[in-house]
Amino acid sequence: MPERSESDSRKLLRRLRDSLAERGEGQERLNRITSLIADSMHTEVCSIYLFRDAETLELCATEGLRPESVHQTRLRLGEGLVGRVARTAVPVNTADAPAAKGFRFMPETGEEIFSSFLGVPIQRVGEKLGVLVVQSKAARQYSDDEVYALEVVAMVLAEMTELGAFLGEGEALRALHKQPVMFRGGTGQEGAAEGQVWLHEARVVVTNPVADDPLTEIERIRAAVGKLRVSVDDIMAAQSLDKEQKQVLEAYRMFAHSRGWLRRMEEDIQAGLSAEAAVQKEQSAARARMSQVPDAYLRERLHDLDDLSNRLLRILTGQGRDTGAEMPDNPVLVARNIGPAELLEYGRKLRGVVLAEGSVGSHAAIVARALAIPLVINANGIIAEALNGDRILVDGDQGIVHLRPEESVATAFGDKIAMQAQAQQRYAGLRDKPAISTCGTTISLQMNAGLMADLPSLESSGAEGVGLFRTELQFLIRNKMPKRDELARLYARVMDAAKGCRVAFRTLDIGSDKVLPYMKPQDEPNPAMGWRAIRVGLDKPGVLRMQAQALIRAAQGRPLSIMFPFVTEHAEFIAARTHVLGQLKREEALGHATPATIEIGAMLETPSLAFAPRAFFEAADFVSIGGNDLKQFFFAADRENERVRRRYDTLNASFLGFIRQIVARCEETQTTLSFCGEDAGRPVEAVCLAAMGLRSLSMRPSSIGPVKSLIRRTDLQALRKVIEAECAAGVESVRPAVMDFLARPQD
Ligand code: PEP
Ligand code: MG
Repeated sequence: MPERSESDSRKLLRRLRDSLAERGEGQERLNRITSLIADSMHTEVCSIYLFRDAETLELCATEGLRPESVHQTRLRLGEGLVGRVARTAVPVNTADAPAAKGFRFMPETGEEIFSSFLGVPIQRVGEKLGVLVVQSKAARQYSDDEVYALEVVAMVLAEMTELGAFLGEGEALRALHKQPVMFRGGTGQEGAAEGQVWLHEARVVVTNPVADDPLTEIERIRAAVGKLRVSVDDIMAAQSLDKEQKQVLEAYRMFAHSRGWLRRMEEDIQAGLSAEAAVQKEQSAARARMSQVPDAYLRERLHDLDDLSNRLLRILTGQGRDTGAEMPDNPVLVARNIGPAELLEYGRKLRGVVLAEGSVGSHAAIVARALAIPLVINANGIIAEALNGDRILVDGDQGIVHLRPEESVATAFGDKIAMQAQAQQRYAGLRDKPAISTCGTTISLQMNAGLMADLPSLESSGAEGVGLFRTELQFLIRNKMPKRDELARLYARVMDAAKGCRVAFRTLDIGSDKVLPYMKPQDEPNPAMGWRAIRVGLDKPGVLRMQAQALIRAAQGRPLSIMFPFVTEHAEFIAARTHVLGQLKREEALGHATPATIEIGAMLETPSLAFAPRAFFEAADFVSIGGNDLKQFFFAADRENERVRRRYDTLNASFLGFIRQIVARCEETQTTLSFCGEDAGRPVEAVCLAAMGLRSLSMRPSSIGPVKSLIRRTDLQALRKVIEAECAAGVESVRPAVMDFLARPQD
């Protein structure tokens, strides 16, 4: 096979583009294109495989393989060489295909006579659409030039697919962005929402992937990169940055000024791509690498490149964030991922959020939870499918998203939302009533918070106070460490908004999944059990002391409650408390008003603290069980890991027995005890915790109504007897008996 010249490539791309302009069905176009490519690349075979669903590729057109195998031959993602290209998004180039790892013989195609194989992914900005393959009889490795040329062709095919050039019969040739699609992701925040898609990053449409005149395109890309560099330099100049932030931004700037990046894009243009298509080609390659790189730092840098590519595309096309499109009244935000600050900016106007990536513990999830917006994470593939304005249903309880749903699905979903709204109304009627059980026990219901935006819920939910104020959210949503006075003002506003109700401020709980953007990430083998929470506070007491000062100043003579996260032993509590009391003395000496009263407590989140000496329970003014962490360590099941996080039931007899022991220890010393993990907000779990002796539960505001409603209908003493009888009988989980008891009419 002769070496390819640049003009060969350009000629082929132009012929491809012309075929897009010609009339005809998608299938005809595909057929024409495979023969054009085989002819231009001097190969006997050219085949196009497209996805028919997220897991299956289908042979959609071929020059050289048996025509009857078209639409018959199918491969799973990862199966055979084609499946491998699709899974890894990396080309496979081999002179001896049958001997290559993972080769799968497909007799219906007649491919056994073709020895060499070159497959490249067809992908659009990292979204996989299919695989383009050439094969030849002669056993030869394709040259780098040929691999490159085929990648450029694949890029154009990807853009043509997006523009709807290959529509036809069958799933593989279906129109993009038209059909109903369901995505199964994970639950980030419960709740159901219906609305219209609002894309965080507006979709950039490249209408012409092929360059008419490479010189003009090169001028365009140079001018755009020049603008980009100036804008990045401006960002850097405008900020007062500390050393570490400077280093991060410096790396970003370096990419913008990288000669290699511009050179590669210019080469793509020489090969026949338009400036926009060249940017997207390099962006796709970076995204493919991103999913392969294990090193977190390098992945971050590839993210930088991705971000720069987006900016560059916006400059080139004039499209992007500000497309002039108006946000619908009922927006459901769809994004690959989003930072907490950006999500906060959208605020409560969002009906729901769907992320293609993300994780339960991500900062965005924390904010979505605080704002009580239903959130589905890991909705893989949604970015490629969703268009602004599409109808979308978000089922945060199941982690399911319906895009452009069938009418029957939408109706069923509407019923679910209506039922939720009715229930909310019922709960609103209970707002001013106490959470008193039928046996006469009163439970104090409090709410969890972390943002100013949460505080209005104190009144609307009827919560008696804030049982957990997660102070780290204020640190997570900023891009630099907040200053003491700024925090003092904020905490004062929180106390003002609480109008005399108690707010238990938890000191900074970072580490594990909560990484501050401006702190050097720790590369720990097991962050959940690593340098986190009070461990960081004690090792770097400057921040702990600064926070204590801010809280004391904010109180301005009002009562103050502080608690430390993740206390594991008595000595840690004493050391942390000493820091706070030291600040109290200092503030007093400086003549500042000190709090009227100060109570200092600990969160019980590790089993060890339940076995601490009596002196700990005597020293702590109060103890709050952080059930999320406590459960993860009791069962040794990572709360972030979808595979195991629901594996063990909160109503497991051993766990409830453990809770009972903690209650007993606090009773011995008359230490106030509360529970502030997610389980406190689940009605059935909440009544069981109350039955085990907890008298104070803190939960997200929307759970207060449902929990109160069930408490008011339950005889906690009788429920405790049921639980104890079940435990004595040796059951694993008391749930079946509890459900049975709760379903019975109670007098
Ligand atoms: C907990 O662990 O239960 C808790 C309330 O703290 P967080 O969820 O913030 O870790
Ligand atoms: Mg915790």
